[in-house]
Order: sequence, then structure tokens, then C-alpha cells
Amino acid sequence: MTRTISIVLAMAMATAAVVAFGQSAGVKAIASAAAALGGKERIVAIKTLVMEGSGVAPNIGQNPHPEGPLPTWWVPEFKRKIDLAKAQARTEQHRIGMFPFALPTDNRLSQGLDGEVAFNINAEGRAQRASDAAVVDRRIEMLGTPVTIVRAALDPGAKVGAPRQNKLKKPGAREMVDIVTAKGDKLTLALDATTHLPASVSWMTVSENLGDVVNTTSFEDYETVSGIQLPRRYVTKIDFRDWTSGDFHVSKNTVDGDVGELAAPAAVKSAAAPAPPVISVDAQPVAKGIWWLAGTGGNAFSILFEFDDHLTLFEAPTSEARTRAVIDKARALAPNKPLTEVIVTHHHFDHTGGLRTAVAEGLTVISHQGNESIFKEMTSRQATLKPDLLTKSGKTLKFRGMDDTLVLKDGSMEVDLFRLHDNTHSPYLIAAFVPRDNLLVEGDLIDMTWFKHPWAENYRQNLAMRKIHFAKDIPVHGRIATFDEEMAALAEMEKRN
Ligand SMILES: [Zn+2]
Repeated sequence: MTRTISIVLAMAMATAAVVAFGQSAGVKAIASAAAALGGKERIVAIKTLVMEGSGVAPNIGQNPHPEGPLPTWWVPEFKRKIDLAKAQARTEQHRIGMFPFALPTDNRLSQGLDGEVAFNINAEGRAQRASDAAVVDRRIEMLGTPVTIVRAALDPGAKVGAPRQNKLKKPGAREMVDIVTAKGDKLTLALDATTHLPASVSWMTVSENLGDVVNTTSFEDYETVSGIQLPRRYVTKIDFRDWTSGDFHVSKNTVDGDVGELAAPAAVKSAAAPAPPVISVDAQPVAKGIWWLAGTGGNAFSILFEFDDHLTLFEAPTSEARTRAVIDKARALAPNKPLTEVIVTHHHFDHTGGLRTAVAEGLTVISHQGNESIFKEMTSRQATLKPDLLTKSGKTLKFRGMDDTLVLKDGSMEVDLFRLHDNTHSPYLIAAFVPRDNLLVEGDLIDMTWFKHPWAENYRQNLAMRKIHFAKDIPVHGRIATFDEEMAALAEMEKRN
């Protein structure tokens, strides 16, 4: 017994020694980074930072072709002001969409952070409190510069791990240091093994579509401003298909300039942070054995079809929570028939937020065969930061691919799936037609709430080609409408293109 205790004790002491050694080696690495940036004293004394420039912000998961490039917002003006002492930041952007889109594509964004309060300022200058999730995102955003992350690592409240070496030779050789900031944010700083300058910072986020996502911002093209080394380019990528989420060139770096008032207005501070959306699914019967599963907790809906011996869902959008609620509702509507499959119209991330959930529930995914590869990748990733149903289930994708058409038919129901031809929104977009009730069931062909309709002519052409003159359109986005209502709305939207 005594022997067992002493062995355990010896092991604990060995672990403590490793941690202590790791910490000191990590602290040394951070000290070398601070020295390379302009000196520890100087870094700690900086009050404000401002970076101004331009760049692009790609739209993650919205590429027309699943294997093609992402559509991008061009950001002709970008300005981030950081008050380090007060933990305040403001990011202002002018963004112009370089892609056809149903909503206005020339926007000005102003996003603020003041300690534990995040807020947005609209075009009229009115500030509105943002969610608590935005606080974390913006705090990490603020740590996405060499000075701010090294300063956070120098904070006595931060924990710094033992440096790891990557396997690359110069000039790609890096020392990787894990940091837990005093606020509890976890990031990994990569230091150039030769210059000791920060090369990149990485952190993990949770995605409904992808599970764990590692985000990495690289610092490039350093310049000296007021004795401090500052990057002139920031490139952020995610660990899915090497997608770039931001690429900004800094035309002007300013150290200790006047940043003006960055505090949240009193009314914003006293307002409650917006609560997460309430999820409710209401099932609206639209024909025998067909329900429109609308409700709240997302702006994309699902449709349910009842066959002889099973149920088929149309679309699993938004999130695990929303899709779970939709699946529960479907099972409650016809408790004696199993829900076995889900039709997914295309890969866009607003339409596939519940794809992982559907796979976790054992549903076979029916979609155009061109979507199989991206769906497989999306559903084979782990979710450890916030374990989701898919990670817990250990299930893998069951996929039924189609090309031009696929008819799902038995004694109770017929659903004719077809691919949209020459559609620039997505070449692998599919929709459904129910001949018995003359219903169109679709996502992203039209939405009665759209401001513009860049794909109007293609929509008309595909309806004509398939000889569809529907009585009602049961949509994923928007509201149920008749053929005539839609054609009138389409003409209005087209005028604004
Ligand atoms: Zn889409």
C-alpha cells in the first residue's frame, strides 16, 4: 500500500516537473517573440493599435459548385481600432458582394466590443447589443494580431504550454506555443524558428456544418512602425478544403494613435444580450401525407412526405437543434412509420446545417451525385469542442445519388426529383414535383421575401422545360405561393437586378 502511494506520488511529481519545465520553455518562447516584435516593455506599454486597408472576405460554404471557388465580398475599406488598455475594439468595413445575390450587396458594417459587451452600429448610427457568442468571437478577433496575442500571453493570468516544433525545415520551421488567456480563450501561436516573429495564430470554433473548425490567421509582410513590428497582410483560413475566410492588406498601421470613443453606449450596456432563437416547428398540412414544417429558430424550413411504409424529409437546414426538432415533429406526425431518408437540395451551408444530424439519425441522404464528395467530408469530421449527435453516434454518410431525375414512388406518394439545368446558383441544385397535387417543393429557386432575383430567367426556363405549372410552391425559404403570385413577384424582383 505504502509502495503504491509512493509510486503515485513520484508520478505526480514527474508530471509537475514536466508542466513547470514546459511553462518556463513556453514563457521563454513568448519572451523571444516579444523581443522580436520590439521589446517586452514596449509591447506591454502600447495603448492603441489601428490597422486600415482593404481585402476580401469569402462567403464560407456558399460556392456555386461544391468543388469550385468561394464567392467573395470585396472589402474596399477596412479599419480596426483596438484600445488594449480598455479591452475595446471597433471594426468598420465597406463590403461589396462580387456575386449574384438575392439581398442588397453593398453594405457598411460597424462592429464593436467593450469588455463583455458586443454591439453593432447600423447605417443610421444606432447601436444595438449583439449576442454573448459575438463577445467571444470579437475577443478572439482582437487577439488575431501579433502584438495582442503576445501581450495576452505575457499576462500573468495566462497559461503558456511547452513549445512544439513543426516538422518543416527553414523557412517553414515553426515553434508552436499553446496559450490559455486570462479570459480562458485557447489559441496556438506559431513563431518563426529563425526570426521568432509570430507567423500565425490558430483557434478552434464550432460549426453546425463541419464540427470542429481550426481557424488560422497568418501574419505576413512585417513592417516597422513606431519601433514595433506589424504585419501588412493578414490571411485567415479554415481547415476545411483550405478555404480562405479573410485576406486583408494593411495600407496603414498606427501605434498609439487617437482611436476616439470606443465604449459601448450606456443604453447598449444596460440592454440584455439577445437570447438564442427559440426553436419551434409547426406542421402545416398542404396535401394528403405532405406537411410544411415551418416555425421559428431558422429561416429555412423542411417538408415531410408520407409513403406507404416510411417517411421522407426534404431539407435538413440551419442547425442540429432545428433539424432535431424537425425530425421529432416528423416522427410525431406518423409514429408508426420510420423516417428513413432526407432529400438535400444543394450543399450551401444554410441548407446543410442539419446534415450531420440527419446522418446521426441514420437517414439516407438523397441529393445530386455532384454533392456526394463534399457531404462525405462534412460528415466525417469530429466535433470535440461541443460534441454533436454525429460524433456521439459514430455513424457515417449513407448517400443515394441522382443525376437528371429520380422518382420516389409507391402506392401512397410520388415525388419526382429533378435537377435544375444551367443554374448558376449551384449546378447540382435539385427540386421536387408532386404530380398528384401539382406541388413544387424547392429551396433557392425563389423566395417571396427576396429583394432581387438574379436567377429569374433560369427558374422560368426550368419550369417550362419540365412542363411544370404548379398550383402551389412549398418552399424552404419564404412562404407558400401560387404560380401566378410568384410570376408577379419575380417581375418585381427582376427590376431591381
Ligand atoms: Zn443556395
